[in-house]
Amino acid sequence: MELHKLTLTEVAKMIHKGEIRPHEVLIDVFKRIQEIEAKVRAYLTLIPDKAYDMARDAEDAIFRGKKDILTGIPIAVKDNICTKGILTTCASKILYNFYPPYESTVTSKLLKQKYILTGKTNMDEFAMGSSTENSGYHITRNPWDLERVPGGSSGGSAAAVAADECIAALGSDTGGSIRQPASFCGVVGLKPTYGRVSRFGLVAFASSLDQIGPITKCVSDSALMMNVMAGFDPLDSTSAPLDSADFTEFLGQDIKGFKIGIPKEYFIAGMEEEVEEAVKQAIHLLESLGCIPIEISLPHTEYAVATYYIVATSEASSNLARYDGVKYGLRSRGEDLLDMYMKTRSEGFGQEVKRRIMLGTYCLSAGYYEAYYKKALQVRTLIKKDFEEAFKKVDFIITPTAPTAAFKIGEKIDDPLQMYLSDIFTISVNLAGVPAISIPCGFTQNGLPIGLQIIGKNFDEARILQLSYAYEQATPWHKMKPNL
Ligand code: GLN
Repeated sequence: MELHKLTLTEVAKMIHKGEIRPHEVLIDVFKRIQEIEAKVRAYLTLIPDKAYDMARDAEDAIFRGKKDILTGIPIAVKDNICTKGILTTCASKILYNFYPPYESTVTSKLLKQKYILTGKTNMDEFAMGSSTENSGYHITRNPWDLERVPGGSSGGSAAAVAADECIAALGSDTGGSIRQPASFCGVVGLKPTYGRVSRFGLVAFASSLDQIGPITKCVSDSALMMNVMAGFDPLDSTSAPLDSADFTEFLGQDIKGFKIGIPKEYFIAGMEEEVEEAVKQAIHLLESLGCIPIEISLPHTEYAVATYYIVATSEASSNLARYDGVKYGLRSRGEDLLDMYMKTRSEGFGQEVKRRIMLGTYCLSAGYYEAYYKKALQVRTLIKKDFEEAFKKVDFIITPTAPTAAFKIGEKIDDPLQMYLSDIFTISVNLAGVPAISIPCGFTQNGLPIGLQIIGKNFDEARILQLSYAYEQATPWHKMKPNL
């Protein structure tokens, strides 16, 4: 059996029944990596030796009767999530030698269950981008078409899941970085409610927007991952004081009577016809399953991209001030301290990161603060209120995840504005803080996956998963595999 092709739900069940051992699954996953990683390049760091040690730990635990859902499951982790003693670069040259002295809360929770870390996945440098082309190391290719991008910034994680180079993965989402690559790679990506999953140990990009979430082969896998990942964490001051929940609770339950909002502002010019068609079909299908579509309005949508690129860059300019060559990471030689700072940052950061630090510094500077940063915060409040109003009328909001399917490598890299626009449907969700998922909803004529975004109310992930599961069970998309 090709164990690497299985879902987390399937592998966990077989491990629990004693039908397979973690070691066997891992062998299969690494065999797969050996066969295709040279083409896809989803990983920045692979740790086979450590992974086999972890498999042995998992087997010991199972032998002693301590089986949890993630025990012995090979999982890939985005390279901006700190893993103690394991290289964590954020795909930046400035952290080329950073071995974190501590573990992120999320990976600590995975470790407690004795998961297996396969390696750290490629991404846009510091999660800034939508194509993984901004990695300081190499690009990642879309498993469905090697000439195309996997999306970003969690492109490595999404590609690894789609290509069966792991059983599941972790990503992070500041403006769409879990959902957009999930959509481009034909897998499931969930951005939890802000505060639902601890950010402790996630290298900060824009702290008021960042969330860690799962990227998986199917909806039930996403629920299982969330069961382990979510929960209050005293180490994250923005963590929500909620007990852990069972995200599988509603899977398989009827979705009759759910009100699904269709925002009129989201079916815009510039959207690919095939994407629009696939999303409309999905809405019809949900209707046939008993959901009630209702047209809604999110009137401030047109300001979302501008608002995001002020808030995110401002926070980034402050967060990235810590990379100064003193405490960790790259240190370039300089004449004096100031010269050392300047050389380190000039040599260590890539172009997009520098662009954002400059933009953010400008927006926060005296004289411009009121016109840009403060104004952006005010508009952010209006965007948040749009969602609050909408959720008085509907249970969910349905949109495409991205206006297009995966684009060609190099197509947008010289036009940052075009690149920014690929997040037009995902960004408002982060500004509002609400949870949203991307699930596969069809393919283009060229065989590229299309993603459906389902946005829910705060802390309503379990219902988002319920709706997603009902859709998934009624469609064949999640069973399709790229031909590599
Ligand atoms: N693509 C968006 C950006 O470049 C979002 C990135 C993200 O969610 N980390 O900022």
